[in-house]
Amino acid sequence: LDLRNEDLEVLEELGCGNGGTVSRALHVPTKVVMAKKVVHIATSDTTRKQILRELQIMHDCSSPYIVSFYGAYLQDPHICMCMEFMDKGSLDNIYKKVGPIPEPILGKIALAVVSGLTYLYEVHKIMHRDVKPSNILLNSAGQIKICDFGVSGELINSVADTFVGTSTYMSPERISGDPYSVKSDVWSLGISLVELAIGRFPFSSEDDTPSSDEEEAFVRLSLAGVDEEGGESTFSGGDAGTIGDDTLSPAKPDKKRESIMLAERQRAAKRESLRTRKHSGGGARKATGVSLAGSGHQMSILELLQYIVNEPAPRLPAGRFSPACEQFVDATLRKEPVGWNVKKKGPLPKEVARPTPKELLEYPWMQQAAATDVDVEAFARSIP
Ligand code: ATP
Ligand code: MG
Repeated sequence: LDLRNEDLEVLEELGCGNGGTVSRALHVPTKVVMAKKVVHIATSDTTRKQILRELQIMHDCSSPYIVSFYGAYLQDPHICMCMEFMDKGSLDNIYKKVGPIPEPILGKIALAVVSGLTYLYEVHKIMHRDVKPSNILLNSAGQIKICDFGVSGELINSVADTFVGTSTYMSPERISGDPYSVKSDVWSLGISLVELAIGRFPFSSEDDTPSSDEEEAFVRLSLAGVDEEGGESTFSGGDAGTIGDDTLSPAKPDKKRESIMLAERQRAAKRESLRTRKHSGGGARKATGVSLAGSGHQMSILELLQYIVNEPAPRLPAGRFSPACEQFVDATLRKEPVGWNVKKKGPLPKEVARPTPKELLEYPWMQQAAATDVDVEAFARSIP
């Protein structure tokens, strides 16, 4: 299918993320309704063409758990990607509308994501890199599919914003700058599942009213004190005051971690400056705090990253989910990704290292989810 911009009639905007805007669009010649994602990339023509070539791999991705790809084209200075339109949208919007997702549906969601990840990794040797509720989609046929995986290395480099995972779903090893693998996707799935199960982002406070702006609240907070125009430069100017001793204070300086935190902060600054420009053209920036459950302590994005690295992983609330479900979620959120005991110079027991997507498929909760007849279609219909 040769996609051309003039053949696509934009019907409605579905949402926008860090790097792009997604619309529902009609491909007039074929009458197919598609989701059209427009990504702005400030890079050379050669790189843009390279990205386009790399995106072609998506044509070979064919799985019931992966959103189909129709094609991509350049529309200077943007890259447009057209994919299957999922009419019930993404799970972040869904749980914000209907509340916490019931366990049987959650099982089907986990099974779809794990199957999609296994397919991507086993067949195409790619990891997703951006697993989170906004990249898990549902349609009214009750199908659950993942989208926005990092298929193009060049695209990952060019728009770190879009394709490098949002900090808050990042695994501890990735935040630390350690080698990371497909098991990082498993961690992100775990965080997403807890979020869907409890109906709010697991690192925010219990008494927080669920708000669609929770993530922005982190960003806003981390930017308190960064001025409008100088988002990025203020930062490199070393505003050590806001980074603070206790936010970047591993016992000895950790260059890798520091650099990823710096990058994260720059990204947050850029996001924020785009956002304010778009919505308000400036104005007062309130440092809306997000605190940890019960602690009453305000967390900046840097503190959050440090928290993920140093503190115990989140868990499902006790007694509300089946033991099989708890076992699965706990496994996805094991902090240690590699099965190697450095001290004993031997492999870690299976119960200690985070499993791969393929291993997860063997878990009782997944076997149960595969065997049971859950009416996801009825659930999809119930969403306004
Ligand atoms: P980020 O940019 O950090 O990945 P995001 O996933 O929310 O965040 P986009 O990928 O730009 O940002 O998507 C914006 C929104 O568009 C999503 O939240 C989702 O609700 C909607 N969307 C994306 N792809 C589709 C699709 N294929 N079908 C239906 N809705 C979609
Ligand atoms: Mg997305």
